[in-house]
Amino acid sequence: MSHVLVLNSGSSSIKYQLLDMAQGTPVASGIVERIGEGRSSLTHKVPAADPGGETRRYERTEPYADHEAGLKAVLDAFAAAGPDLDAIRPAAVGHRVVHGGDRFGGAVLVDDGVESAIEELAPLAPLHNPANLAGIRGARKAFPNVPQVAVFDTAFHQTLPPAAYTYAVPEEWRTGHKVRRYGFHGTSHAYVSRRAAAILGQDPADTNVIVLHLGNGASATAIESGRSVETSMGLTPLEGLVMGTRSGDVDPSLPAYLARNAGMSAAEVDTALNKRSGVLALAGANDMREVWRMVDEGHEGARLAVDVYCHRLRKYIGAYYAVLGSVDALVFTAGVGENDERVRAGAVAGLERLGLRIDPAKNDGLVRGTEQVISPEGAEVPVMVIPTDEELEIAVQSLELLGR
Ligand code: ADP
Repeated sequence: MSHVLVLNSGSSSIKYQLLDMAQGTPVASGIVERIGEGRSSLTHKVPAADPGGETRRYERTEPYADHEAGLKAVLDAFAAAGPDLDAIRPAAVGHRVVHGGDRFGGAVLVDDGVESAIEELAPLAPLHNPANLAGIRGARKAFPNVPQVAVFDTAFHQTLPPAAYTYAVPEEWRTGHKVRRYGFHGTSHAYVSRRAAAILGQDPADTNVIVLHLGNGASATAIESGRSVETSMGLTPLEGLVMGTRSGDVDPSLPAYLARNAGMSAAEVDTALNKRSGVLALAGANDMREVWRMVDEGHEGARLAVDVYCHRLRKYIGAYYAVLGSVDALVFTAGVGENDERVRAGAVAGLERLGLRIDPAKNDGLVRGTEQVISPEGAEVPVMVIPTDEELEIAVQSLELLGR
């Protein structure tokens, strides 16, 4: 029986899951937080073996200076609270890495060359790649005898054709500075589109899907015959859909306009577009549950926020329909996509001529955390809700790479 340990390392945190690949379910999970900040903490959870049982929790608060120390604490947690890693002997450690540039079109076995490449790509993801790399370096020390696999958020979108990934900008930007569309959330789009094909009973290679990954970050992808051919995030995750705190598409002249008229620097505008825009800027809150509460209380900003959010979704669905020519399924996933029936209804409102329709009873009565078709029986284009599972996808890709 194979197990894979999946690590998602942020600048001051490490999230982890140990998956039993016979079942595809986690047998332990946890998070190390505030690494390098003095008051670090670790929370380790071991779900009960039987359905009615209680999850075992193990917690520690002690300073972890860096990712290596954090991973040592994770090993201690497994030793103290189980399961026994020495007995399980994970087949791989799978690492989430945000940016693989145009260098990585799939998962790779980590070696010194891969580490250097992730480091060289840091200008494209200055917050994420160095943190991901710190996790990889720590894990190579903590698990010296286990193969380490890097799975990139961008990799699934490396199949975009030049017509889709090229920005019409000066040559020296494109070649000298690697300016192009990369796309993100690839692990989720890959997983969800494959599940959609399985639900349809089709081979992914014969299936065209539009996936809307709507979390705090959000992106849409057009998948043709199992391959990503267009996606809404670009050089960075700022482009495309309206998100929790990101604007998505704006006029590219906005930074220059604000520099002239508000004295703002490019960095200030960039920070504001990433952290103080999107639903948060319009409604004053970025959690959709809170935003809908405000809508119900008559808050005009919140109403505008959901209108802008859903309008952008409809626009992208229409555009990706045109890109694909024919669509076998439209899929909603991630926090908002899986849980927000009003956003789902708003996203397809008025798209009946495209064959897109939602059955209100199915949409409203959805059982959380399950895969469901929410379009009416016999609909031209099935509309689905599919919970994403990026950890499972990272584990699956890690094992596939190792030929298991
Ligand atoms: P992340 O991008 O951080 O991985 P998630 O996919 O977990 O995000 O999505 C988080 C978001 O999902 C929250 O900010 C919230 O807006 C939304 N969300 C979660 N539960 C619900 C719900 N029941 N109804 C509406 N929105 C929800």
